Amino acid sequence: MRIVVLPGDGIGPETMAVATNILETVSRRFALELNLTYDVAGHDSLKQHGATVTNALLEKVKAADGLMLGPMATYDFKDESKGEINPSKYFRKHLDLYANIRPARTYKGMPARLGEFDLTVVRENTEGFYADRNIESGASEMLITPDVVISLRRITRQCCERIARSAFQLAMTRRKHVSIVHKANVLKMGDGMFIDICHRVAEEFPEVQVDDFIVDAMMAHVVRAPQRFDVIVTTNMFGDILSDLTAELSGSLGLGGSLNAGAHYAMGQAAHGSAPDIAGQDLANPFSQVLSAAMLLNWYGQKSGKPGFLDAGNAIFQGVAQAIEAGEATRDIGGKLGTRKTGLALAHRLSGH
Ligand code: ATP
Ligand code: MG
Repeated sequence: MRIVVLPGDGIGPETMAVATNILETVSRRFALELNLTYDVAGHDSLKQHGATVTNALLEKVKAADGLMLGPMATYDFKDESKGEINPSKYFRKHLDLYANIRPARTYKGMPARLGEFDLTVVRENTEGFYADRNIESGASEMLITPDVVISLRRITRQCCERIARSAFQLAMTRRKHVSIVHKANVLKMGDGMFIDICHRVAEEFPEVQVDDFIVDAMMAHVVRAPQRFDVIVTTNMFGDILSDLTAELSGSLGLGGSLNAGAHYAMGQAAHGSAPDIAGQDLANPFSQVLSAAMLLNWYGQKSGKPGFLDAGNAIFQGVAQAIEAGEATRDIGGKLGTRKTGLALAHRLSGH
């Protein structure tokens, strides 16, 4: 498996160094054919090459099997005509990474304020209110007069169908329960179609239990009893918001691993940003990046059928859970170690001796 690694900004270099060391560790233990190539995107690339992502990098990424994208500080990327495109948006669009999979779970050894839970948000990643990711001509917002802006939301049958299928396939590997989250009482046509298609896809998975929730009510349900949920499927913006909530409910944004998956390609990416407030201080929780790497290995193992990758991914999930229980973790989740030592402890745990 060839993976391109782009460490990113802020805490990115620190957390990505841990993630790649963990990848190397499981690669040795499970005798994986794993090849990591390092490159730059974002600010460093803008300085060196005049664009946050160059065509050469896109070609290199496309030639690999997967991508590890570090957090990118995007606040001063405003003018796409000057090469200041948000790398995350760029890769999601050019690699058609339509499913954003964001697990959130509690761990033994951490206070679980809401009780233990283990759920995954499957967020549509290419349309909805962020339709500019999919429309070549550009913007999904328009200034009608100096005082009026119209924002467009695009929902298509094809994108609903493929995200629904991702959610049901995932549910089959878990507790076989899918919850559809929508606002069909207001967005009658778009979310009406989304629900309809989800239920139609559900017919292909008779073992999976299905229910649906209006997004506002869902906020209460998920805070009241997160253990009620297994896989949650929803449109782009609702998934964006809901998955930040569930990540935080699980204990820390630093546990938020995620995968952006398409039909032929996937990108592991921590769900949080570059956390400039703690960058360079050996404080960042590296597990979000490590869990994203494990998701990427599992995705590749499933897709290619090559031996070892699923075992390696699962070993990482298990290792992180054991490390948290043993207190070998960063301060945000109650541990006492820095980023580097947390990474070394996990690597030792996973090395098999
Ligand atoms: P950006 O503009 O890149 O999104 P941000 O200032 O919004 O950066 P986030 O990265 O979104 O910051 O983080 C929000 C909060 O969560 C910050 O206080 C940050 O320190 C904390 N945080 C985020 N990631 C981690 C992590 N891996 N470990 C510990 N704390 C984190
Ligand atoms: Mg942020």
